[in-house]
Amino acid sequence: MINITTVALLVVFFTIPVMAQEEYEKDVIETSAGDLEVTFIGHGTLMFSLGGKVIHIDPWSRLADYSKLPKADLIFLTHHHADHLDPVALEHIRTDSTVVVLTELCAKTVDNSVIMKNGDEQSFIGIDVVAVPAYNLIHKRESGEFYHPKGEGNGYVFTFGDTRVYIAGDTENTPEMKTLENIDYAFLPMNLPYTMTPEMVADAVNAFQPKVLYPYHYGETGVSKLKDLLRDNKNTEVRIRKMQ
Ligand code: ZN
Ligand code: ZN
Repeated sequence: MINITTVALLVVFFTIPVMAQEEYEKDVIETSAGDLEVTFIGHGTLMFSLGGKVIHIDPWSRLADYSKLPKADLIFLTHHHADHLDPVALEHIRTDSTVVVLTELCAKTVDNSVIMKNGDEQSFIGIDVVAVPAYNLIHKRESGEFYHPKGEGNGYVFTFGDTRVYIAGDTENTPEMKTLENIDYAFLPMNLPYTMTPEMVADAVNAFQPKVLYPYHYGETGVSKLKDLLRDNKNTEVRIRKMQ
C-alpha cells in the first residue's frame, strides 16, 4: 500500500525536474554601474538586468514562457528571422514605456520602435549602444544569397558603466567585428550553416581579444573544438553556458 510519505516523495521527485526547466543559468558581472545579471535563456536569446532595469535580447517564446518573465525596459532585436523577431514574446514583455530597438526590416513588423542602422550610436536609459554590422562572408543559401546579407542585421555593443558587452547577432567574423576594441564580454554565434564555424569564432576572438567569450546560438556546432582552438589564447576566458 502506498502511504502518505511515499506519495509526498513521489510528488517531490516528479516536480523538481519540471521546475528546473523554468530555471535558467545566470551569471553576475560586476560593473561600475552595479551588478549586471545575465540570464541565459538559450539559442540567441538573453535577458539582462541592471539596477532594476530589464533588457531582453531577441526574446523567443519557443524558449521561455514570456508571460512569466519580467517586463522589459528595453528590447533589442538583432534581425528579422523568426528565432530573433517573435511578436508573441514581444507582446508579453512590452509595456507603454518599453523601448524596442531594432533593424529597418524588423520595423516593418514591430510598431513604435527605434531603428538603429549599422554603425549608429545611441543612448537608452543611460546605456550607450553601438550597432555593429552582422552579416555572412561565406555561408549562403542554395539560391546563392547570403543567409544574412550585409546591412540587414545588427550586433550591439552595450556600455554598462565601465564594462562593454558585445552581442554579435547572426554573423561571421567580419572586419568590423575583428577591429572592435575594449570588449569585456563577447557573445558570438556558431551554428552551421548560418553563422560561424569554431575556426571563424577563434579567428575573431584572436583578433579583438574579448576578456570573456560566451559562444551562443551554437546548435550542434562543437564548443569543445572551440575550446581546443583557443587553448593558447591566454587573454580570453571561454565560458560555456546552455545556449544551443
Ligand atoms: Zn538569422
Ligand atoms: Zn539565428
